[in-house]
Amino acid sequence: MKFDTQVIHGAQTPGEWKNATLAPIYQTASHRFDTAEELSEVFAGKKPGFIYQRLRNPTNQTLEKRLALLEGGQDAIVMGSGMAAVSLAVMAIAGAGDEIVSGNSLFMSTFMVFNNVFKRFGITAKLVETTNFDAWKAAVTPKTKALFVETIGNPKMDVPRIAALAELAHANRAPLIVDNTLATPYLFRPFEHGADVVLHSTTKYINGHGSATGGVVIDSAKFDWPLDKFADFKIAKDRRGPLAFSDKVWRELHINFGTTQSPFSSYLTLIGLDTLALRMERTLANAQKLAEFLASHPAVKWVNYPGLPNCPGHAVAKEQFKGCGYGGLLTFGLASEKACFEFIRNLKLIYHLANLGDCKTLAIHPWSSQYINMTEDVRRANGITPDMVRISLGIEAIEDITADVDQALHKALV
Ligand SMILES: *Cc1c(COP(=O)(O)O)cnc(C)c1O
Repeated sequence: MKFDTQVIHGAQTPGEWKNATLAPIYQTASHRFDTAEELSEVFAGKKPGFIYQRLRNPTNQTLEKRLALLEGGQDAIVMGSGMAAVSLAVMAIAGAGDEIVSGNSLFMSTFMVFNNVFKRFGITAKLVETTNFDAWKAAVTPKTKALFVETIGNPKMDVPRIAALAELAHANRAPLIVDNTLATPYLFRPFEHGADVVLHSTTKYINGHGSATGGVVIDSAKFDWPLDKFADFKIAKDRRGPLAFSDKVWRELHINFGTTQSPFSSYLTLIGLDTLALRMERTLANAQKLAEFLASHPAVKWVNYPGLPNCPGHAVAKEQFKGCGYGGLLTFGLASEKACFEFIRNLKLIYHLANLGDCKTLAIHPWSSQYINMTEDVRRANGITPDMVRISLGIEAIEDITADVDQALHKALV
C-alpha cells in the first residue's frame, strides 16, 4: 500500500468494533474480569488485556497501532500531550549523572525541560547548534545516553541531517531520538534514516483540526541497549527483548506518572489522521506558494522557509525530503515589532493563536508570546527576533491566504 492509502486503511480493525468504520470511544476507567486467575495473568503480562485507563485503553491502542505503522516502528505509546512524549522518551534513557546531547533549535517547552527541569534531576542536556555537525561530535562523550533532535527547527527552520546524527549516536553506542512533529511521516520517516525513537505532538498535523492535545513515543526496536552502558534496561530487556525501550517508557514512567491520553482525544485524533496525507499535500504546496509570495513582497524584509533555495535549511531538506515538500511552517520579517503587531491586528481570515499544524492557517509573533518569558539573549539564540512573524499554513485556497496576507501587509506599512 502507498502511504496515502495506508494512512486511511492501515491497522484498522472494524471486525473488532461490530463493523463500525471508526474506532469506538471506550470511555471507561476500568474493565471487568470474570475470574481472579484472568486478572492476575493480565497484570503479570502473560495475557493481553485492558485493566485500567491509565495503563491501556482500546481506543488509545488503535491510535498507537496506526501511528507505529505509519512511522515504520514496532510499538507506540500515546500520551496526553507532546510534552509528555518528549519528557518520558528522555527519562526512560537518562538518569542522574547522565548527559544527553540535543540540537539547540527546540520547541519552547522542550528547551525549558532540557535546560531547567532535567538539571534539577541530575540530567545534563548539552545543547549544540543543530546543523553544526562538528559541534555535535565535540559534545558527545561516553557519558552521552542519547542524542535528541527535531526534524525541522521551529521557528529557526533549520534542517539537520538525520542519517549523520544516527551514525554519530551509534558510533557512541547511544540512541537517536527524533521529534518528527513538523515533518510528519508523510514528509519524512526518521527510522528509515537510522533514528531509534520517534516522537510527535499529535496535537499538530496528525490531528490536524486543533481538537485535542496528544503525544506519541514510537520504538524502532532496533537499538540493542548494551547493558554495560544502560544497566537499568536489564529487566525491560528480559521482559520484552528488542522492545525494552517501549517497555521502560510504558511500565516505568507512563503508567506511574499518569501521562494518560483520554480515549475521546484519541478518537478525535484518529479521525484527523485519516486525512493526513491529503492535508499535508495541500499544506506543503500552500507553504511553498506563500513563501514565494512573501519573498517578492516589498513590505517583507526576509523570509525563512526551507523550500526557498537561499534559505539555510534548503540543501539538506531537498535531499532528505526527496522533493516531497519543505514543511508547513515559515517565518518572515517586517520593518519592526510594531509592524508585526499591525499585520496581526489586520488579519481577517488567518487566525492569530498559539498552535500549528491545523487545517486553518495560523499566525503568531513568537517574540512577544510563547517566548516572552525567556531573556532576550535566549530568544535570539533560538532564532527569535522582534521583527518576526510565524505562519502555519492551513489547507484553504492559496489565493485567499495570500490576499489576506497582502492586505494585512499593506496596513502594516507604518
Ligand atoms: C507542540 C510541540 C511539542 C509539544 O507538544 P504538546 O502537544 O503541545 O505538548 C513538542 N515538539 C514540537 C516540535 C511541537 O511542535
